[in-house]
Amino acid sequence: MRAWVREAVALLRREAARSADTHLLHQRFPAFPGIDFYFKDEAAHPSGSLKHRLARSLFLYALCNGRLREGQQVVDASSGSTAISEAWFARLLGLPFVAVMPACTAPRKIAAVRALGGQCDLVDDPAHVYMRAEWHAANGACHLDQFGLAERATDWRGNNNIAESILGQLQREPHPEPAWVVCGAGTGGTSATIGRYLRYRGLDTRLCVAEPEGAAFAIGWREGRRDATCRQCTVIEGIGRPRVEPGFLFEIVDEVVEVPDAHSVAGAWLLEALFGRRYGGSSGTNLVACLELATRMRDRGERGSLVTLLCDRGERYAETLFDPDWLEERGIDPLPALEAMHAAIDGPGSG
Ligand SMILES: *Cc1c(COP(=O)(O)O)cnc(C)c1O
Repeated sequence: MRAWVREAVALLRREAARSADTHLLHQRFPAFPGIDFYFKDEAAHPSGSLKHRLARSLFLYALCNGRLREGQQVVDASSGSTAISEAWFARLLGLPFVAVMPACTAPRKIAAVRALGGQCDLVDDPAHVYMRAEWHAANGACHLDQFGLAERATDWRGNNNIAESILGQLQREPHPEPAWVVCGAGTGGTSATIGRYLRYRGLDTRLCVAEPEGAAFAIGWREGRRDATCRQCTVIEGIGRPRVEPGFLFEIVDEVVEVPDAHSVAGAWLLEALFGRRYGGSSGTNLVACLELATRMRDRGERGSLVTLLCDRGERYAETLFDPDWLEERGIDPLPALEAMHAAIDGPGSG
């Protein structure tokens, strides 16, 4: 038993050692002189999203807590990206994996989990994923529990967590201490790690959560209550949770910017124009929030840098967020927002 755990931990540590850091991509826009934008490309992980970091941490956490044994089934509730990364690591460790996902999850994500040997347990109501995952756990599966454990499974003081990585990569830049870091909140793990690390390092950098309009974190944060639920469903996967997740830490967030879905989609489309490759909807949400904060900085005459994340690969949304027919069926028209964003980054006189 202990021998298998030792070997499993060694496998995960070897995988981490083989992995390279993700790029911090730089952009400047004509309309924002003196302001540097940085994009941490988390889509570059082997399993395609920032959830690669989380899945590695969750498996290590389960193993080192003695909760995971040889041959045991592994389960988690997910909107898809986590399921793909967890399936990837389950395969590495030779463990059977089942993902509990909303039936409306992007088809490519469901296919990706299956291609990695995972099983998909699809539920109609996204709010039921938690209960269903608990049911699997009651039947003997190890619940990785991203929503319950993301915030503590990551080493927030360092160990090459995402915050330490970003700040290290900024070291030689003109503004190495960013004015803002902008990220989404799904499990809340990323914002918790970044918020804690900023304090640990004694920086003035502020943390902004970019949230789909009307989602639970925004309402809960604004009204200071943890029982908030979402008023509006979002098509942006990975963020915009229906409830305030246990890992959403209000105290370390300085600002929440709410973004309508059409703007997030426009943001994702704009990212493709900027970088020549596709990223997912939550990356678009992040970009919209960055432009809002940068506009405030510019209007106050401030210079500095902003950092945000490119959370996952856009190919996953070819049949959804990048399909005009799919968007039209849902009454989402990103074109006006896209035009406005192009104008906003190009500035006056760009025609
Ligand atoms: C999970 C996720 C996020 C949010 O990250 P958390 O650390 O879980 O809060 C953002 N975008 C995508 C695509 C995700 O899968």
